[in-house]
Amino acid sequence: MPIRSLDSRTDRRGSLRLLRLLLAVSVALPLLLFAGIGWRERWEAQDEAERNSSKNALILHEHMLKVFDTMSQLLDRVDERIHGRSWQEIAASDSLHSYLKTLKGELEQIGAIGLTDPDGIVRNSSLVFPARNTYVGNRPDFREQRERDAGLLIAGPVADPVTGKPSFGISRRRSGPGGPDGKFDGMIAAIINPDYFASFYRQIIGTEGESIALIRDDGAMLMRFPTLDAMRPNAALPTLPADRGLRAEIRRQPDEGIFRTGDSHVQGLDRVFAYKRVGSFPVYVVYGLDQTQITRSWWRNMALDAAFVAPATLALALIAWLAYSRAASESAAVQRWADEVRNREMLEEVLRQSQKMEALGQLTGGVAHDFNNLLTAALANLHLLSRHLPVEGQRFLTGTRTALERAEKLTRQLLSFSRQDAIDLTVVDLGDSLRRMDDLLERSIRADVTLDWNIAPAPMAVAVDPVQLEMAVLNLVLNARDALPGGGRIRITAAPGPEPRTARIEVADTGAGMPPEVMARAFDPFFTTKGVGKGTGLGLSMVYGFARQSGGSASIDSRPGEGTRVRIDLPLTDARPAESPAPAPAATPDLRPLRILVVEDNPLVLMATVEGLTQEGFTVETAEDGVTALTLLETDRNFDLVVSDVVMPGGVSGIDLARHIREQWPQLRVLLASGYSPESLATMGADTASVLAKPFTPDQLTARIRALVQNGSADRIN
Ligand code: ADP
Ligand code: MG
Repeated sequence: MPIRSLDSRTDRRGSLRLLRLLLAVSVALPLLLFAGIGWRERWEAQDEAERNSSKNALILHEHMLKVFDTMSQLLDRVDERIHGRSWQEIAASDSLHSYLKTLKGELEQIGAIGLTDPDGIVRNSSLVFPARNTYVGNRPDFREQRERDAGLLIAGPVADPVTGKPSFGISRRRSGPGGPDGKFDGMIAAIINPDYFASFYRQIIGTEGESIALIRDDGAMLMRFPTLDAMRPNAALPTLPADRGLRAEIRRQPDEGIFRTGDSHVQGLDRVFAYKRVGSFPVYVVYGLDQTQITRSWWRNMALDAAFVAPATLALALIAWLAYSRAASESAAVQRWADEVRNREMLEEVLRQSQKMEALGQLTGGVAHDFNNLLTAALANLHLLSRHLPVEGQRFLTGTRTALERAEKLTRQLLSFSRQDAIDLTVVDLGDSLRRMDDLLERSIRADVTLDWNIAPAPMAVAVDPVQLEMAVLNLVLNARDALPGGGRIRITAAPGPEPRTARIEVADTGAGMPPEVMARAFDPFFTTKGVGKGTGLGLSMVYGFARQSGGSASIDSRPGEGTRVRIDLPLTDARPAESPAPAPAATPDLRPLRILVVEDNPLVLMATVEGLTQEGFTVETAEDGVTALTLLETDRNFDLVVSDVVMPGGVSGIDLARHIREQWPQLRVLLASGYSPESLATMGADTASVLAKPFTPDQLTARIRALVQNGSADRIN
């Protein structure tokens, strides 16, 4: 199955990154927009506030101008009315008082009208008759009018004579006979009705935070709405300092303008003021707006905006997040899937490999068994022949025997690979066994190859066939040598393995290494890259078989040009290593010829075996299969030993035969001759019999028979 390519993985990562970006943008962009809009609205609100303030200042200005106009006309009319009258007449005139009272009643702007004589005494007014003759001669407006004709003079602040509320007055000189530059002849003054302004201003001012003030150019505050302190209506109004704040601004721009402050002298708030000079009078109308008011309404707008923007943003972010997390989990799933596929492919590969090895093992096993039989027969016959051959013929015989022995070694390697070899498991110390091989290995390499040893000092007890262990290591060293045509190093390491309770043998070389395709097949039997006659392809397969047979495993780590390491991992055993193998007991001459029953279906092997045993002095009977043997034993039990092949026709195998004999005649011993390993025989049920590995020489057979008869069951393996 194809695994997704690397490209698509980077694609996936790329699109994930894009989605993450989208998620960030979906949150950040609305926030940024919102902030931008907020900022703009803030300035717009500010602008609008200033525009509105200017507009309001303009309205106030027009109004004030009209008030002054009216007042001016009013004072003129009063002046006309008293024209030519003496102050005695004025003070005594009830009708004048009524006239003033009527005027005041008609004009709601006016709080009171009073007529002051040149000595500063109020002689008639709209308030009471006769007048109380109040002295105002020390008031600044009176003094100024007395000094010179000041025209229409704005005076104050003064308290409203009726309500006591802060107010201001307007005065003019009484026109006398000498004209404007003539002798001072008293003053006509009116006091503004603050309530009139209050009710008018209340209509202009909508929200709290707005204020209206009337300020004279000397800083005196003539009127303010709302009143500064509602609890103290009579509180004196402040005078604005000349050098800063509004008055400084007015000096800069005398006609009209906008003034902003963080610290108003009046309320200490952030305020915007719009002011305008009332005509040519030294008076300014000032409209003030509390900035916190602007800010508050701005916040309200923003909250409203947010109420719309936030859910949309949230929804957008949620969608982006969902898309992202979905894509992320999908990507993870794809990754998992790819990993799984890779895993499965690997497992399948391992399985295929082990199946292949199994099949090859069976095949080689079958072939090897047949060869074994043939070799056994040939060796036996050769042995017999040697007794009859003259000395000069022995040379050829030796040559033949060497060839046969080499053939025997080959079949042993084959069987060892197929794990059907008759092996002899012994507990040995790995380090000791390897050290004992020093000589052998040194002899098998060339002078330009160095052998390094690296054997852990710790005892490592393993249950192996010592001969096979030796063969496996020798095979590895020979392979390493072959991979070092120009010389180099071979390092043999034995140490505790990476898995717990294992030992590892490693043979590493600095040679040519293997390309992957060679490495993949190196354990295969008959696989060789060496020329015809140079390699058999059985070295590594023997190593593999040995490792598996000993309950372990073998592996290769190699790269072209970087050398090769072959490892054998073996399970450690708790058993203690046996002392050096006891020498085979010498054949002791027997008094009575032993009587042996040989069961063998292969006539060649049978013939050779019988001949060999007879020559050793045994009495031999034969049977060509298990059934025949059993029939024979029914009538004649007088045997010391039964030697039997394992695989035989007729339905009764050597194993069946051994089992039957044990049940029926327990004192009769059985020796099974076989190419099968003791374990595989054990699984077939031959746990009670002794085993002799095929092929064997007549000498080996004789020695084994004698040992068995002497030691009884002590000889049993496993
Ligand atoms: P043979 O040695 O008879 O060829 P083996 O089973 O021992 O058979 O090895 C199989 C193949 O594995 C060799 O032909 C060689 O190509 C390769 N091989 C084994 N050991 C090594 C090594 N140490 N370095 C390089 N290649 C090796
Ligand atoms: Mg080899």
